[in-house]
Amino acid sequence: MARYRDAVCRLCRREGGKLFLKGDRCFKPSCAIEKRGTNPPGQHGANRRRKALAGYGLQLREKQKVKRIYFVLEKQFRNYFDKASRQKGITGENLLFMLERRLDNTVYRAGFATSRRQARQLVNHGHIEVNGRKVNIPSFQVKVGDVVSVKSKSHKNPHVEGAWQTAVGRGRPGWISTSAGDLNVTISALPVRADIDANINEQLIVELYSK
Ligand code: SF4
Repeated sequence: MARYRDAVCRLCRREGGKLFLKGDRCFKPSCAIEKRGTNPPGQHGANRRRKALAGYGLQLREKQKVKRIYFVLEKQFRNYFDKASRQKGITGENLLFMLERRLDNTVYRAGFATSRRQARQLVNHGHIEVNGRKVNIPSFQVKVGDVVSVKSKSHKNPHVEGAWQTAVGRGRPGWISTSAGDLNVTISALPVRADIDANINEQLIVELYSK
């Protein structure tokens, strides 16, 4: 499967704001946006002025931003949109709900990882179980009642322990409930729009794909 292998901080600079792709570092002065500002990446980025966007440009950038936040490539993102448009309800919100319910995002939201990228690695490497069975598919959709946990052998993983502590300060969305101390969470509801805190205008994506 194709993967993005370049420096992820470039993606934040391309979108002109923090996408929080690197966990704890995003909150430190070493964040590339803090150090270099929102100039576009590249050799001449500092000399390039960011144009005011409108219409297609604005819609395209919004789509790219959401793809990058959730680390999803174009084809898969488009498939999510097609499914969302066939569901009842508001297409843009349906799209975000499907992205939220991905297993890698759930692992991040639950606090087992400090970023979605780290969460995906935990899933890929077989550290995550759903209802007691190993699931190593990052796009797996969780449903209400599922129990998502870190495999008992991986409880001492320093990345997981560190992330679990940090998550206390970051807070968890209302659709995920925790039970004290044992590195497992329950999906207690479906996500709602208010749970998605990223600064996203999903209507722009609907307009882009509806052309
Ligand atoms: Fe973006 Fe985080 Fe890199 Fe800052 S540290 S530029 S928020 S990925």
